Parts: sequence; structure tokens; C-alpha cells
Amino acid sequence: QPITVGQLAKLMHRNSSEIIKFLFMLGNMSTINTTMSDDDVELVCAQFGVECHKEVVIEEDDIEDQLKNIEEDESKLQPRPPVVTIMGHVDHGKTTLLDTIRKTNVIEDEFGGITQHIGAYQVSLHGRKVTFLDTPGHEAFTAMRARGAQVTDIVIIVVAADDGVMPQTKEAVDHAKAAGVPIVVAVNKIDKPGANPDRVMNEMAELGIMPEEWGGDTIFQRISAKTGEGVNDLLETMLLVADMQELKANPDALASGTVIEAKLDKGRGPVATLLVQRGTLHTGDSVVVGTSYGRIRRMTNDKHKEVKKATPSMPVEIIGLSEVPRAGDVFMTYTDYKKAQTIASQRLEKQILKERNASSAMSLEDLARKIDEGDVKEINVVIKADVQGSAEALKASMEKLEVENVRVNVIRSTVGTISESDIMLASASDAIIYGFNIRPSAAIRKKAEEEHVEIRLHNIIYKALEELESAMKGMLAPVY
Ligand code: GDP
Repeated sequence: QPITVGQLAKLMHRNSSEIIKFLFMLGNMSTINTTMSDDDVELVCAQFGVECHKEVVIEEDDIEDQLKNIEEDESKLQPRPPVVTIMGHVDHGKTTLLDTIRKTNVIEDEFGGITQHIGAYQVSLHGRKVTFLDTPGHEAFTAMRARGAQVTDIVIIVVAADDGVMPQTKEAVDHAKAAGVPIVVAVNKIDKPGANPDRVMNEMAELGIMPEEWGGDTIFQRISAKTGEGVNDLLETMLLVADMQELKANPDALASGTVIEAKLDKGRGPVATLLVQRGTLHTGDSVVVGTSYGRIRRMTNDKHKEVKKATPSMPVEIIGLSEVPRAGDVFMTYTDYKKAQTIASQRLEKQILKERNASSAMSLEDLARKIDEGDVKEINVVIKADVQGSAEALKASMEKLEVENVRVNVIRSTVGTISESDIMLASASDAIIYGFNIRPSAAIRKKAEEEHVEIRLHNIIYKALEELESAMKGMLAPVY
């Protein structure tokens, strides 16, 4: 139903007279009780620098649920390239193998393009495309699985023949098994004098990965990632395994898929690598990713070339999102930008509610009183950093701080600049926002002021910790 000037003013934390004055300048006479047209609401929001969303009731706003409920029309399915992840213990040769594959299998029509690290790349084998996820360590894989994202069709586990099965090899086996993904074992470094492929087979068999030669169903390929020996056979094997899966997707649907990597770029804003898993993604499409949304302004492939569309199994780097999403977040395309915006904001509200319930909200006054009474106390903190590493390091160190039974509760720790949702969360849970290596805009500072949220900015981790520690000691005198 239509909104009145007074209601809008309240929602915007503004005085009604300011809105009445602005409308008057546009030639509209109004009072507090005048109902406003959508256009006027939009104009007012733009004038005061506030993001407004018209409430649209959407029955199913849970993207993951929607995706699960898609019933594919068999006749529209087309073969798609397999998506392969290389895993294994550190130093066993994952990077070398990825490099060797990349160097020797550049896609013909893109020859000469410089490969960019975007977290995934495609190569051409016998005229067929294969997508490799190129995410160092297993964290990305774990994060994706934790969010229920299934992106990999095949896992290649690299085991160095001179070292054998190690802890991260076991971890890789566990991940692949849990995900129900077929495994191909690359027994690497066979060029080395101390190489003992039989030992690798024995140790893998002990983990339940039985070699085909011994009557099992896993293919073990002996390779040297360094000299390239056996690598082609490994790739052929991998294609055979892929063929057995009959991988298909509908390229004509609205695109959906998973975030492989995301970061905040100082110049370009949020940048994300998306793996398209269904449908075709186009420049200009409106997407929702987690609580972030936007219209795709530009897409580039792994060769750093601009592309206008991305088909199933293709990784692309995109810009145009409102916030930095997380690896493993699912994205979905909408035909309508407004709808994308609405869905994202509804998800945001839900998330804030969830986080608010999870955190024990307490005003600083309450805290001061509790300290007097000698109860356990907490400082809620929201961390925003330029890179994942810093966000994680700050979170871990802050949570370790404990001063006279006062402890720190990090309620959100993400990559990106401070957004309105961060301020709302902080406001709702009396949290302090710590920004690391980022600069909030004037609008955000203003918003924080309005909401009485304190923003502390730092470039050095221990300085941030020192400051917080002294705040914990002196928290009886709250300062805004
Ligand atoms: P990652 O940690 O699994 O990514 O391992 P890397 O690819 O960085 O390899 C670790 C070290 O092993 C590097 O010094 C590589 O040059 C070396 N290496 C990798 N594959 C081979 C191989 O097939 N033969 C030999 N001799 N060395 C290898």
C-alpha cells in the first residue's frame, strides 16, 4: 500500500519537514499525511542518498531452495565441460601440475592471451573444454561444501611418490568421498630417484581408495608434473571418467552457479569469479549473490579477455556487485533488476535478524552496570577488511583478548568496505566496527553517526588489538 510522507520520513530517519520542503520545490504540495507515488519516493530517496526498496512480496526468496526445486526439461539439456579440482598435500605438485596442464593446453582461439589468476581456468583437450578450479589450498573447497555448493565433477588427488600419503592427502580423500565425487589419483614426481609408486598405491588402498589394477575402481596415473611425463594420459583418464558421468546442463535457462573467489578491488569495487553451472550469463544481467546484488557491468574470462556471455562450466570474472560475496555463495540471475534488488535486501534483513538473535545484544550502559555487578561481559565487534587473511587474523586475535572477564564477540568478519548492513547490524547489537585497510565513504560515516555506531579504522593489526584491549579495560566509561 502507498506510503505517507510521515512514514517515509520515519523510515529514513529524517524530519518530515525536509521531505515536504523538497516535494514543494518539485511543485508538489504535501503534508505529513499525504500519500506518495512510487516516483516521488524514488526521487526523495535519491535526494537524501538513501537506498529504498519497494516491498514486493516474493514467495520463494531462498535461492538455494529454488535451485533445488528446478525440474530440468531433459530435452533442453546439453553436454557441458567437466569441472575438475586438483587436491593433495602441500608440495606434492598441485601448482606444478596445474601450470603444466595450462601451458600445454591453451585453447586455440584464445592463444596468446595472458592467463589471469581468477580462481579457475579452462583448457582445451582434443577439442573439448575442461574447467580446472585453481584455488590454492583446500579452504575454498571446504567453504563451498560448507555452504552446500557442489561445483566439482572430478577430484584429482596428487600424491608425491617420494613422500607418500600425508595428512592433507587424507583430508582430500575425505572431502572427495563426502562430496561423492569420483577420484583420479596422480602419482607424481616419478622422475625422482626416491620415487615409490607402489607405496602410494598401498597407502591409498588403506584409505579405501583401491587401484583399478588391484580390482578397485580408482585409476592411478604415474606422472611427473615437472617433465610432463604421463600428464596427457592423466588427462585422457580424466576425460573418460567425465564421460561416464554424462555431464549436462540447460544453456538456455537464466544463469545460476557458484562464486569461486571474490575480493575487493580498490579501483573496480567488488570483483567475483563466478562458475556458471546452469544457463547462460550475459553482460547486463541482474544477479543476486548471497546478500549482494547488481547488474553485471563487465565480464572477463581467464585470459583477461572481455566476453559478453558465459555458458555452463565457464568461469568468468565479473564486476558490478554491491558487496563482496563469499566463495561458495550461490548466484542467480533475474530478468528484473528491481526484483534482484528486493530479493537481496530481503535476504539481508533475514541475515541481520539471524545474526542479531545469535549475538547477545547489550547496550554499553547495560554492560557498565554488569561490570559493576561483576557479571561476564562482552564487546561485540564487526570486522571489515580489504582481504580475507586480515579479516581472519583480526577475528582470531580479538577473540583471544580477555581483560578482567570482558571478552570480545566477533559477530561478523568479512571482506569489503563498510556497508549499510554492517552499520545496521552493529547498531542492533551495540557493536563497534573495526575497518582494516579500508576507507568508508562520507555517506557511511554519516549513517554510522546517526546510528551511534563507532567505526575504528586501522592499518596495523597489533594497533587495533592494543586499542581494543584498552577499551576493554576502560569500558566503564563508554565513549561514542
Ligand atoms: P603444491 O604445494 O602441491 O602446489 O606443490 P608445487 O607444485 O609447488 O611443487 C612443490 C615442489 O615440488 C616444487 O619445487 C616443484 O618444482 C616440485 N615438483 C612438483 N612436481 C614435480 C615432479 O613431478 N618432479 C619433481 N622432480 N619435482 C616436482
